[in-house]
Amino acid sequence: MQILVQKFGGTSVQSNQSRKHVLRHIENALNNDFKLVVVVSALGRSPDPYATDSLLELVDYPEHSITNRELDMLMVCGEIIASVVLSNELRKSGISSIALTGAQAGIKTNADFNQAKIKEVEPSRILTELKKHDVVVVAGFQGKNLQGELTTLGRGGSDTTAAALGAALAAKSIEIFTDVNGIMTADPRVVKNARALDIVSYREICNLAYQGAKVIHPRAVEIAMHAKVPIRVRSTYEENGGTLVTNTRNGKVGVDISDRVVTGIAHLANITQIKVQTKEKEAYRLQSEVFKAMADAGISIDFINISPTGVIYTVPNQQAKRAITILKSKGFNPSILDDCTKVSVVGAGMTGVPGVASRIVHALTSKGVQILQSADSHTTIWVLIPSKDLFTAVNALHEEFDLSNQSTILHDFLTER
Ligand code: ADP
Ligand code: ASP
Ligand code: MG
Repeated sequence: MQILVQKFGGTSVQSNQSRKHVLRHIENALNNDFKLVVVVSALGRSPDPYATDSLLELVDYPEHSITNRELDMLMVCGEIIASVVLSNELRKSGISSIALTGAQAGIKTNADFNQAKIKEVEPSRILTELKKHDVVVVAGFQGKNLQGELTTLGRGGSDTTAAALGAALAAKSIEIFTDVNGIMTADPRVVKNARALDIVSYREICNLAYQGAKVIHPRAVEIAMHAKVPIRVRSTYEENGGTLVTNTRNGKVGVDISDRVVTGIAHLANITQIKVQTKEKEAYRLQSEVFKAMADAGISIDFINISPTGVIYTVPNQQAKRAITILKSKGFNPSILDDCTKVSVVGAGMTGVPGVASRIVHALTSKGVQILQSADSHTTIWVLIPSKDLFTAVNALHEEFDLSNQSTILHDFLTER
């Protein structure tokens, strides 16, 4: 029995019209003799009534007084509704189908409500149902913990469900259907001539996804990478193949695919920069106390820059108010710059290639974009900029590295010359 996992995102299952395309992809896979596990997200996007954000509005999120446990009980409903709606439509079209919640499908998680991690997938129920039905439709983004409580996997987590099921069922492939043509060189809402990548390594996509390329959840990529199951990200509305995420070339296992010097640009908005200055003799107290206080409060920090006279770091906008209150209560006098964006230039082949940073700085400064902070690793260079310059900055970098052009330089090619 050859299994294929297909995942359809919120916009793909939004309406009768969009679900006609979903049905077409399912029928195509069945005609190719696959048994199908179809993972669905909640129907549509806010203000659609059963989208995740619409459900959250019912309890006045984020100003809520609901517990994290009950938030998960609320959010799982969106995907459960979608699974029943799609399964019903499949039956209407003569396709034998059953809907399962994440828990019924065997997704077992830890107890970390709203951000649960999958601990185990017990696929026996799915395998039994696949003997009776052509399609098992699974509600994405959810599971249950050891105590039987319902949990969710973090926003965008239906991709993670699809990857976990693909790995547990040793699926031929995981197909992520969405509203764009694949994984693109930048968010197409920001860069009009962004291009869909044909083939990329798990590592490159993981970096892009962690830095804000929301087209696929980074944990989904990690799970598929460990299980060596290829992912294809493609459009629900078109027939083209989209982007293949794999580590093999021409189907040859064990042959690395080439990494590009620059693969794409990702961005994360809604970031606040915090600066705490002090006199040099106070520096040690400042450094240890500030970071401990943030850790104790569970505030995630990034872009950390420590000098003898102070510390600079960033927090998500929603956590800024709390961070400032804590710093003031400890006697510090922080200054803040809200509404910043982190722009990441990602390319697993940039290691050892000179001049990448200088091209980034030149591309931004020549367009008058102020770089507030920067950092780098061997696969990514990050800059923090004012959000008002987001479009200018991402487009300038996209152009600088010629990412709209099909012949984006691969690292192998560069070193072979
Ligand atoms: P779904 O509901 O199908 O999971 P998402 O909204 O989570 O869809 O992800 C798809 C969106 O991701 C696209 O509409 C696009 O605007 C955005 N996106 C951001 N970065 C990228 C990128 N590099 N490539 C493709 N899409 C991207
Ligand atoms: N519906 C959930 C969300 O909006 C999960 C998903 O779409 O993947 O985050
Ligand atoms: Mg998504």
